[in-house]
Amino acid sequence: KVVPFSPKHVAVLAFPFGTHAGPLLIMVQRIATEDLDVRFSFFSTKISNAKTFKLNKTGLWNIYPYNVHDGIPEGYVPRHPMEAIERFMYAMPRNFRSAIDEVVAETGNKITCLITDAFYWFGAEIASGLPFGLQGLTLSLSTLKLTFLGSGHPMKVSDLPEGVVRDIENPMATMLHKMGVTLSQATAVAINSFVDVHPIIVNVHDEERCLEWLEKREKKSVVYVSFGSVITPSPHELFALAEALEECEYSFIWSFVGNHKKQLPEGFLERIGNKGKVVAWAPQNEILQHPAIGVCVTHCGWNSILECMLGGVPMICRPFFGDQKLNTRMIENEWRIGVAIDENGGFTRENITRTLVSTMSSEKGRLMRKNALELRECAIKEIECNGSSIRDLNTLIHIVLS
Ligand code: UDP
Repeated sequence: KVVPFSPKHVAVLAFPFGTHAGPLLIMVQRIATEDLDVRFSFFSTKISNAKTFKLNKTGLWNIYPYNVHDGIPEGYVPRHPMEAIERFMYAMPRNFRSAIDEVVAETGNKITCLITDAFYWFGAEIASGLPFGLQGLTLSLSTLKLTFLGSGHPMKVSDLPEGVVRDIENPMATMLHKMGVTLSQATAVAINSFVDVHPIIVNVHDEERCLEWLEKREKKSVVYVSFGSVITPSPHELFALAEALEECEYSFIWSFVGNHKKQLPEGFLERIGNKGKVVAWAPQNEILQHPAIGVCVTHCGWNSILECMLGGVPMICRPFFGDQKLNTRMIENEWRIGVAIDENGGFTRENITRTLVSTMSSEKGRLMRKNALELRECAIKEIECNGSSIRDLNTLIHIVLS
């Protein structure tokens, strides 16, 4: 590979799980268009890079993907997603350091700026140890909405990500703790939210023709179900959800992580016929902008929340881990744009049916939609010319490129 020399070289360290890397790449693309002479090296695992760069093509030649080791021995298949995450965490920061060293050796371009996922406490160390005496810059893309804690709304200890309160020795808890301690050393913290960054994730794939199917549906008549890119609820919850969707009066699109033919009740797909669609991947952002969508059943991942807000779509929340319980609390009590499935339990046929009816067909649901539409207006204002998102983005561009 022939790599032109650039006096400025930005290393970007992505977290390769969930939907962390995609929004980070979108932000980096936005910055990289401002000065094509600045080189951006984007580090993530092989699988993450393949997916992220496939979904976000811009043809910018100053962004180079580099793979870091995922910590998984050759030929070994992790038994569950959490194991893959833990193995990766054990491999870092060594894997990042060696990949960065290799790129610097290959290109002769020393790192002049570091952009990392907020999780990576070691970003501060790498930035301060830059060999040529320049002060290192660290920018962090936070996907944890720690600012919520200061909102004055009562949070429950049980809303916090697992491992933060009990079992504080586990790798995720250790990482979050170190993140909290080092985040303030960053020159800038970029948060993927209304006030900081444009939230749209580009989705162009609609192999199952969901959008065409939605065209034939009445306004606010369809339920959209998605638990993000990682989560599949437990078998009994899947069954409860399937039964409730089959019995209710609403049409639905269900984005299903896993093997829906094996994991859903026998005969489910045949029985629902054209009333519903179960797909492996949906153009979620576009779906949530469609007038036919009445509600989104969600795990409350942050990207999904932003997309619901932008679509003015109320949410039924079933949080699983990480920041999802905190997000749910904000959705239900602060912004009032959604409702949580009963605490301490997942889906039952009864609680899904009840919440579907209350969001789709009652005054409470109408109010939630109204509140969501108001937030949508705020979001749009922030990304207009004088909006705070644009001002903040310009500050960020200035920091990285100057
Ligand atoms: N997504 C999508 N199609 C799907 C499922 C998810 O486009 O069928 C996108 C969704 O629009 C969102 C992202 O995947 O941008 C999920 O991010 P989120 O933070 O909500 O959850 P995570 O995947 O990190 O758990």
